[in-house]
Amino acid sequence: VQAALDNIDATDPKYDAFITVMKDEALAQAAQLDAQGIDADDILAGIPYGIKDNIVTKDVLTTAASRMLENFVPIYDATVVEKLRDAGAIGIGKLNMDEFAMGSTTETSYFKQTKNAWNTDKVPGGSSGGSAAAVASGQIPYALGTDTGGSVRQPAAFNGIVGMKPTYGRVSRWGVIAFASSFDQVGVLARTVKDNAHVLTALAGQDAQDQTSSAQAVPDFAANLTTDLSGMKIAVPKEYFGRGVSEEVKTTIEAGLETLKSLGATVDEVSLPHTQYGVAAYYILASAEASSNLQRFDGIRYGFRADNVKNLEDLYVQSRSQGFGDEVKRRIMLGTYSLSAGSYDAFFKKAAQIRTLMADDFKKVFADYDLIVGPTAPNVAYNFGENSDDPEITYMNDVLTIPVNMAGLPGMSVNAGFANELPVGMQFIGDQFQEEKLYQAGYAFE
Ligand code: GLN
Repeated sequence: VQAALDNIDATDPKYDAFITVMKDEALAQAAQLDAQGIDADDILAGIPYGIKDNIVTKDVLTTAASRMLENFVPIYDATVVEKLRDAGAIGIGKLNMDEFAMGSTTETSYFKQTKNAWNTDKVPGGSSGGSAAAVASGQIPYALGTDTGGSVRQPAAFNGIVGMKPTYGRVSRWGVIAFASSFDQVGVLARTVKDNAHVLTALAGQDAQDQTSSAQAVPDFAANLTTDLSGMKIAVPKEYFGRGVSEEVKTTIEAGLETLKSLGATVDEVSLPHTQYGVAAYYILASAEASSNLQRFDGIRYGFRADNVKNLEDLYVQSRSQGFGDEVKRRIMLGTYSLSAGSYDAFFKKAAQIRTLMADDFKKVFADYDLIVGPTAPNVAYNFGENSDDPEITYMNDVLTIPVNMAGLPGMSVNAGFANELPVGMQFIGDQFQEEKLYQAGYAFE
């Protein structure tokens, strides 16, 4: 723990991954473990890890990278944090992210700009950009992130590490600051598939505090990893190699598919015909849920309160105007609009119907195949500011990750190689609760 703290001190001025370093808390927990001793079976015990700053930590500042929560200190731990503490893992700090997890580059953070671990001129991806950069740069062996439309997998891809978004319901959302509740899921970013699998094993399982958490049995995800893929049937959607996907990403993923074949898997082309509607539908649905979830930030119950206000309504207006950044406001306006009586049928309802069609596309493929494989993102990490004046371009970046959240499926990104000295992520998608298959196939790229 001391070595990790020293390393963070030395390297974080370069990466800006951390919002808060939990020095005293981490050292106290480590001392306690030293005194009581560690059981050899407790594989995570004594090992430091990082926590995305939208996951609440008792007595430790939790900001969601927003001015709104600049001084917010929660009074309880999220279930995922509690579970890792029970496993002896040591939370060492809170990681930067896009404000309220809205974004794909970590540029919407109110506090700082996290850099890509491979090239500090490039974005780290997002919204879990701090988690990805901290892991990829060697500051910590793993971190927690959240994935609503790709926020674990895409930053993992941009930083060349392993990012797992489990099945919706696999991991408790209790204590995760809500963005879009029917999409949000906690995920793991780690340097290897095996590390990632160990952490998910500790996190997964039903939680009485989250009624959407599943009672599905939790296997030891790290137990049976081999590189023998004989009999595994892999489907490659032709839409995942369409317009907008860069040539160097295609080439790297095609080489990855050859690796899977050489280990015994069969690979066929399939179609997920509704893929093209995913981004439009997601930004309506997720923004609608966000506009509702973010109502609680009213200047009274939580967080930032504006000064010098005229009356109660002015207090709401000023607190929200000054406390939220532009991207968050854009989502609240979009969401409120699509839920309003006059536009519900034209927007929200249609988007919800598309969500069902996309889930059905996947169901059809999984009737015949074990896994779907393709790129995680259409391109590698890009320069800061490159897309920031056109949110639509940034939104399109999520085209290959969003379908997984629409259908509540598990998805994982592993590093498949490099293009222009930047990592290329390969995405594995499974049917519900099939995380074991993802780890199995991903292990070939360990
Ligand atoms: N980039 C997507 C968005 O901005 C996904 C974010 C996420 O998964 N939290 O909504």
